[in-house]
Amino acid sequence: MVDQTGVDDPITTPWTPSIDQALANRLLAQLTQAERSLLLDQAELVELDRAQVLVWAGHALSHAYFPTNCMISLLATQPTARNFEVGQIGFEGVLGASSALGVTASAFDAVVTGAGQAWRLPLTVLRKQCLRSRHLSVLMVRYLYTELGQMGALAACGQFHVLEQRLARLLLMCQDRMRAPDLEVTHESLAHILGVRRASVTLMTGLFQSRGLIQHSRGHMLVVDRPGLLATTCECYARDLAFYEQVMSEQWPL
Ligand SMILES: [Zn+2]
Repeated sequence: MVDQTGVDDPITTPWTPSIDQALANRLLAQLTQAERSLLLDQAELVELDRAQVLVWAGHALSHAYFPTNCMISLLATQPTARNFEVGQIGFEGVLGASSALGVTASAFDAVVTGAGQAWRLPLTVLRKQCLRSRHLSVLMVRYLYTELGQMGALAACGQFHVLEQRLARLLLMCQDRMRAPDLEVTHESLAHILGVRRASVTLMTGLFQSRGLIQHSRGHMLVVDRPGLLATTCECYARDLAFYEQVMSEQWPL
C-alpha cells in the first residue's frame, strides 16, 4: 500500500503537506474516495484562530474538527492551579472522534494553540457515517486509542523528564502539526501548555536560543536546528510517533 503521507522518516522529516486539502488530514486521507466525499460534502474548511475555544470540558461538541495545518490542545483545567496540556491534535487526528462511541461531551477544554485550517463537520454527520461504515468507525477508535496513549505518555513525561526535554519535545510536536518551522507562540502559551511558570519558559528558551536551536522574537519562534532539538528531547517524542504509526496500521489488533 502506498504511504499517502510520503514520510520516509517521521522523526527527522515533518510530514510534507499535500496540495489537496481533502488529503491534508491523515485520517481523511485514509478513507476511500467515497467515504471521504460523504464527509467532505457536508464539511467546510474553516480558519481557526489562536486561543479560539472549540469546546469547554463537560460540554457537547457540535462539530468535529479535522485539522489540516493547525493545532488544537486538550487542556485539563484545575480551578486552583494552572491549566496544562494532556493532548494535542493536528493533521494526524480529529477533535470529536469519541462520537464513534456515541459520546459527544468533551472531557477537556479544546483550545486552538496554533492558528490554521481545519475541516469542520457536524458531529451528527460523523456519528451517522460511523454507524454506516465500519472502516470509518474503526479508524476513529484507533485514533482514540492513540490519544489515550499520548495522554499517558504526556503524564509520564511531565513526571519524569525535565523542562529542557519537555520544551524540546513540545517544539518538535508543534513544528510537526503546524507544518512549518516558524511557530506563532509566546512564552505564556508555552508555559500554559507545559503547566509551568512563564519565567521558567523564558529562561529555557533563552538557553535554546544561545545554543542555536531556535530564534525567538515577539510572538514567534523559529526552529533552526531540528536535529539539535531531537538530541535535546527525551525518548517520549519518538515513542509517541511510533505508537501512533503502530496503532493506526491495519496490523494492530482491535
Ligand atoms: Zn519525556
